[in-house]
Amino acid sequence: MSRHHSLVISCIEGDGVGPELFRSARSVLDSISEAFGLRFEYANAPAGDKEFKRNGNALPESSLEAIKESDACLKAPVGESARDSILKIRQELDLYANIRPAKNYHFVESKFSDVDLVIVRENTEDLYVGKEVTYEHGNKATALKIITKKASARIARYGFDLALSRRESRNAKGKSPSVVCVSKSNVLPKTDGLFVKSCEGVSKNYPSVSFSNMYVDSAAMNLIRNPEAFDVIVTTNMYGDILSDEASEVVGGIGTAPSANIGDNLALFEPVHGAAPDIAGKGVANPIAMLLSVKMMLDWLGKTKRNPDCNRASEALLDSISVVGESGVKTSDIGGSARTDEITRKICQEIKSKKLSSGAKNGSPMESLVTNCE
Ligand code: ATP
Repeated sequence: MSRHHSLVISCIEGDGVGPELFRSARSVLDSISEAFGLRFEYANAPAGDKEFKRNGNALPESSLEAIKESDACLKAPVGESARDSILKIRQELDLYANIRPAKNYHFVESKFSDVDLVIVRENTEDLYVGKEVTYEHGNKATALKIITKKASARIARYGFDLALSRRESRNAKGKSPSVVCVSKSNVLPKTDGLFVKSCEGVSKNYPSVSFSNMYVDSAAMNLIRNPEAFDVIVTTNMYGDILSDEASEVVGGIGTAPSANIGDNLALFEPVHGAAPDIAGKGVANPIAMLLSVKMMLDWLGKTKRNPDCNRASEALLDSISVVGESGVKTSDIGGSARTDEITRKICQEIKSKKLSSGAKNGSPMESLVTNCE
């Protein structure tokens, strides 16, 4: 790819705190363009509650097309219509791997200091297929849980490849790479049992990665008791959703938790948190989860488009977020009193200051959050 080729980013501005967080992300991308010569083109892909109110469809076909035609999609949280927007996008575009890292940063207070784990959540099946039925005049209900060997083995391979790519940084801390498969196969031997069996099958191809099984209740407990022991957790859709909110609190809060939804040729990046209607419009939402999602997007673009400027920009962005956070400029959810736009402004300044200094250099110690995405 030529150095000045534009990268097309499809944009879902979302609901609640979504638009204010999206503005923050756009300012940061503008600063990145200025500092690193990257060119972004933006394609609107409206989805969510506002879109539903406007035309009765939370995900118009034109938005889905805009996402398909883009190089990557950046999404702020949507509100009540998540099931008809983001869940549909994940399934329609087969974004099968939901990557949710939980990592300690110096500027975010936590009971722990060395948590660095990634939840790899299967993103297309399980109870999320949305097949629910009510009977007996609404007094009885069932939901269909779908698990296939194909999707389970696919997500397991993603998890093991990710563990391999993190091996060096794990070894540097005296830890070995590991994958823990989380399920409830004792209660659900057919569905979760198939998931476990598929993961066990894949594990045989990765003898250098240690593999174990854990029931989801035990995983929930161990995530609070000893989160530093985890490396990669591979799990089904529902458990992954719940455990990733928990993991984000363990490292300091949901306002700092980013995520990626990755398919074979396309990916969408979004904060783990929802639209936070309780603080929407007040200008106090923490932009870090959104900005770390931008970082994951740059990592993925760097790798899949073979664009080293994206990797440099990603390193500079993480460095800038850390510098600003460590200077005490942070939102109230993580112990500060700054507003969203003040943090954004400072991070932008920091990025631009790298134009002439470290920004053009290779070899930052900051590791990529999306290490396995080809
Ligand atoms: P969803 O089910 O869509 O994930 P949710 O019901 O779990 O959403 P969130 O919208 O994630 O809820 O909000 C949960 C809590 O976290 C709320 O108190 C909200 O204010 C807070 N919160 C979420 N995101 C942020 C943020 N970026 N900055 C500060 N606080 C946040």
